[in-house]
Amino acid sequence: MNFVCAVCNSDKNLYRSKYCVNKHYPVPKEHYFCWFCCFKLSRKINADTLDWGSKHRIICPFKHCHSPLFEIEHYQSGVKRGSNELLMELHCFRLSYKKPSLVNVMKTIEGTLRGEMEDFLAHNFTGQSKAFFDLMLSVKRRFDTRPNTYDECQKSVTFELEWYDWNSYPKCESCYTEVNLHQCVNKSECQHLCCLKCFLETLNDEHHGNVICPLCQSYCAGTLERYQCKTQFPREVSMLIWRAATKSDTVEAALGKLDEWSIERGPWKISAEKKLWLVQAKDRLTKQPECFLIFKNLHKFELPYYDYNLTENVNI
Ligand SMILES: [Zn+2]
Ligand SMILES: [Zn+2]
Ligand SMILES: [Zn+2]
Ligand SMILES: [Zn+2]
Repeated sequence: MNFVCAVCNSDKNLYRSKYCVNKHYPVPKEHYFCWFCCFKLSRKINADTLDWGSKHRIICPFKHCHSPLFEIEHYQSGVKRGSNELLMELHCFRLSYKKPSLVNVMKTIEGTLRGEMEDFLAHNFTGQSKAFFDLMLSVKRRFDTRPNTYDECQKSVTFELEWYDWNSYPKCESCYTEVNLHQCVNKSECQHLCCLKCFLETLNDEHHGNVICPLCQSYCAGTLERYQCKTQFPREVSMLIWRAATKSDTVEAALGKLDEWSIERGPWKISAEKKLWLVQAKDRLTKQPECFLIFKNLHKFELPYYDYNLTENVNI
């Protein structure tokens, strides 16, 4: 038998309550409903009863039921969702539903964070504000890493949503950035996950070709690989583009820097290897000028993969 949401008939994001009990159902009942209908009603009832003391947080949306829910089960996978996760979902829904835009939602979240921060600073880093600050920071992370959350909270969707993991998330262990995560290859003593910005800043003064972990400073002659897809990071070329980009305001200025570094001065010869890296760096900046802004903002934007293999014959 195929179940559907008792409110909107959707068969996607379907959940089951096991123990709905109230005056209409003295014997526990199972009800089926979708994620959207559940949070839509919970938001409404919580907002309506704001000043009434005891209130139910997550509520079964089945007609006349409205029982409090503390755990629901995803119908398709059988995975159970507990009250902590459900309350976090409710926070996101409350902040998004019928709000004019994602920008507006982010403004509200950031404003709340500032307010709570002032408050917990005033209370010597303790108290309720600290707890609420941490909670809002988790909510902000959800909207940062999954901006679609805003759309998902506007209307019921026709596909199965991926459940957001509220408990663990990969991040740079040095600065908590969540994009461009990299790791040293094959190192037993250091498994640290760090972002490219931290790696490049640490490597800036390293002239022996080693890779240094920004957190524990352990070094190896090996290479860096992207955490998600395990592709190797072309360290030398990327370093040149990053240096040129961070020192320039425009792509043209960055290309000018690379030209400047290609000029041999006095008795110092540029190695053939470095000449090739400079050509490859120029090649990428010319063919993919949008990477200029990404290199300048590695803590914000994911750097796309780039194949540095030169197709044309390059005169070095
Ligand atoms: Zn529904
Ligand atoms: Zn129910
Ligand atoms: Zn970092
Ligand atoms: Zn380390």
